[in-house]
Amino acid sequence: MITHLSQLQFDNRLVRELPADPETENYRRQVTGAIYSRVNPTPVKNPQLVAGVKEVAALLDLPEAIFQQAEFVQVFGGNQLLVGMEPHACCYGGHQFGNWAGQLGDGRAINLGEVRNQQGEHWTLQLKGAGPTPYSRTADGLAVLRSSVREFLCSEAMFHLGVPTTRALSLISTGEWVRRDMFYDGNPQLEAGAVVCRVAPSFTRFGNFEILSARGDIDLLKQLADFTIRSDFSHLLEGETDEITTATYVQWFTEICISTAQLMAHWMRVGFVHGVMNTDNMSILGLTIDYGPYGWLEGYEPDWTPNTTDAQGRRYRYINQPRIALWNLAQLANALYPLINSVEPLQQALEKYRAEYERCAQHDMANKLGLSQFDPVQDQALTDNLLQTLQTAEIDMTIFYRLLARLSLDDIDQYTEQQWVDIVRTAYYSAPDANAETAMATWLRSYAQRLQQDYILTGNNDAQRRARMNAVNPKHVLRNYLAQQAIDKATEGDNSEVEKLLQILRNPYDEQPEYEAYFAKRPEWARHKAGCSMLSCSS
Ligand code: AMP
Ligand code: MG
Repeated sequence: MITHLSQLQFDNRLVRELPADPETENYRRQVTGAIYSRVNPTPVKNPQLVAGVKEVAALLDLPEAIFQQAEFVQVFGGNQLLVGMEPHACCYGGHQFGNWAGQLGDGRAINLGEVRNQQGEHWTLQLKGAGPTPYSRTADGLAVLRSSVREFLCSEAMFHLGVPTTRALSLISTGEWVRRDMFYDGNPQLEAGAVVCRVAPSFTRFGNFEILSARGDIDLLKQLADFTIRSDFSHLLEGETDEITTATYVQWFTEICISTAQLMAHWMRVGFVHGVMNTDNMSILGLTIDYGPYGWLEGYEPDWTPNTTDAQGRRYRYINQPRIALWNLAQLANALYPLINSVEPLQQALEKYRAEYERCAQHDMANKLGLSQFDPVQDQALTDNLLQTLQTAEIDMTIFYRLLARLSLDDIDQYTEQQWVDIVRTAYYSAPDANAETAMATWLRSYAQRLQQDYILTGNNDAQRRARMNAVNPKHVLRNYLAQQAIDKATEGDNSEVEKLLQILRNPYDEQPEYEAYFAKRPEWARHKAGCSMLSCSS
């Protein structure tokens, strides 16, 4: 452990090894021939700690007490640089809602540098909302407390759910006012500003490669690819000579396909909807990145999207996410093509995405249902019927699976239809009609039969099944209304709800009886309240 921020060791590989934009003035522009531009955070009036994450501090060898040091808010609010920091913003492009958007870049994110911890790991520190950069286009480079609380809490929630993600070290309110038109109705309001310090091995996105390829800058494309392989995928070079060949690029792209497939399976398992799966929001490391108008399925609605901007086409709806990830990977394949010059291996990698997604989805579904194995012959139908049944009425997905785990095969012999439905009744948002009850009871009966068969074959029992299910079906997710309640309090200067949610979400699979009140459906008042159902991109 180190005791002071000044002891952090920086090893800024990206800045050192890749070409910088020679222009150091901070004005909006197209940046060519460079991977990043040097830019300092904009100082803020009155930085105050809203919350810090001790586990992320520990990744940097910092003790929890670090959050109390006066210097902390100065550094991570953007007012002060530590020796060794080399702040910069990266250039990237992206496909937004299916269309090529040209240069985007870190418009409100500033990388401070790469910490090298005592285990030799590199962790990039990035401030989000620390002021304009050359990539800010027409926007202000700032972030409001509302969206920063959401990013801060959700990235940590995802980590504890076992979903790959960028992390959050701190959430700091800036004492500045930021103008936002949250409803896009021409009535902008002043909102409290905030800065989140995000932490990840790297923040490189599909779009960092796409922009170089789109501009025909193949030299730079190769430099960034080689750098990424050497820094973030160095295992691909182990045992080989240090040389990067066409085969290395293929292996690398294949790994990106595999990790992205795994990420999609995780999102589907926990009911997470990212909301803006543009290629600039896709991490090369298969991490969940850029928490904007994301949401969690409450009623199981496969076509739901949390993003008001996407309400028409619903491109980024829950059920479509695995397909969109594949589309995004195809864009990345196009961008990397000049390094490989052959379509077939890229296509094979995309095929592996499909296979891996299928494998993970089946494995997850078996676990969600507590089956020792997914038997494609009977379990595909069982799963399809379940998802169909979940749509016959409005049924809370998270609560449903936890209640399902409580089913006991010892009790069911004489069950009436009503009693079957009683097992999961509190997951319903409104009372099911007769048809919906019959559908649910029928499905539950077939499920119980399948379990009986599984127990006979494997010697499994209810207790083992319950443990298996509760390890993959969270009891607690960051429901939008919960986040909104924490935001409302934090806006009033009371950070206790942010802390409380952070604590609950540290152990999302545990029973935590002391927080039973949080194991509840979205209340009716939250159904259409701003921030509690759909969200705009305004953040
Ligand atoms: P997003 O859809 O939030 O992932 O952002 C798309 C692009 O817009 C990225 O290049 C962001 O850096 C940029 N951007 C989003 N919000 C702002 C802002 N307030 N100021 C500057 N750039 C922004
Ligand atoms: Mg983004």
